Amino acid sequence: MAGKLYLVPTPIGNLGDISRRAAEILAQADFIAAEDTRVTVKLLNHLGLRKPMAAYHRHNCGTAGPAILGRMEAGETCALVTDAGTPAISDPGEELVALCAASGVPVEAVPGPCALTVALSVSGLPTARFTFEGFLPLNKKNRRARLDALADEGRTMIFYEAPHKLRATLDDLADTFGPDRPVAVCRELTKLHEEVLRLTVGEARDHYAAQEPRGEFVLVVGGRPSPEKTEGDWDAALERTEALRREGLPLKAAAARAAEEYGVKKRALYNEAAARTGK
Ligand code: SAM
Repeated sequence: MAGKLYLVPTPIGNLGDISRRAAEILAQADFIAAEDTRVTVKLLNHLGLRKPMAAYHRHNCGTAGPAILGRMEAGETCALVTDAGTPAISDPGEELVALCAASGVPVEAVPGPCALTVALSVSGLPTARFTFEGFLPLNKKNRRARLDALADEGRTMIFYEAPHKLRATLDDLADTFGPDRPVAVCRELTKLHEEVLRLTVGEARDHYAAQEPRGEFVLVVGGRPSPEKTEGDWDAALERTEALRREGLPLKAAAARAAEEYGVKKRALYNEAAARTGK
């Protein structure tokens, strides 16, 4: 019988964030596939575990992936971990999951720490709809092309970024989206020097022009404001819709009345109020 692949999220900074279930699976798996075994040993020491490990990372996944798959096909269970966060999110875990899916090896994901959800939830920007963009291309031309393609994106956008590329990315964001676009620069999340700066893109660019970026970053960027929303007093219209709902008016009627009162588009107001209430 085939074994199984467990995707085991690990802390993105604070060791206390390892879950009880994640620790149990690490203890029970036949072996652990790790991005950097030296990093994972520290976590295992913290948990008081000693386990056989196999290296699985960006530079060896072409050969290590099929080898790990072969072990699972022979009946072993493997716990996949990366240096931090949820395996398969912006790391080569994605390829191992695809191999398992194609070969019929079961995969079970354990929920846990992930930098993108931590950053989005703390950003203060709209969370009802968002798009995760991962890392932007290294090459400037390709990076600009990617950002140009996002110029009209109305949803909140989440980017992972390395410190040595942050300044160039903030420059490009300001040029493409304009300096007034809101951004939450989330640095060293869950760590001692955690910092969340809620700024405009232009302010963030100026801040890091004067100060060298250090640590790990997630950028959460506000989507393009809809022209429909800027016509009237959008926030007041939303609040009024919610107040009318609390008074017992159906959502459609509440949005219609608030749209009339505050001079915003009825359908756009209805859609956003519906998304907020999860309807
Ligand atoms: N799989 C991971 C996850 O679930 O978030 C992401 C792996 S990706 C190779 C690493 C990137 O995640 C970093 O470059 C940074 O953008 C982001 N990241 C990871 N830990 C972070 C932290 N503590 N604070 C801010 N960003 C972090």
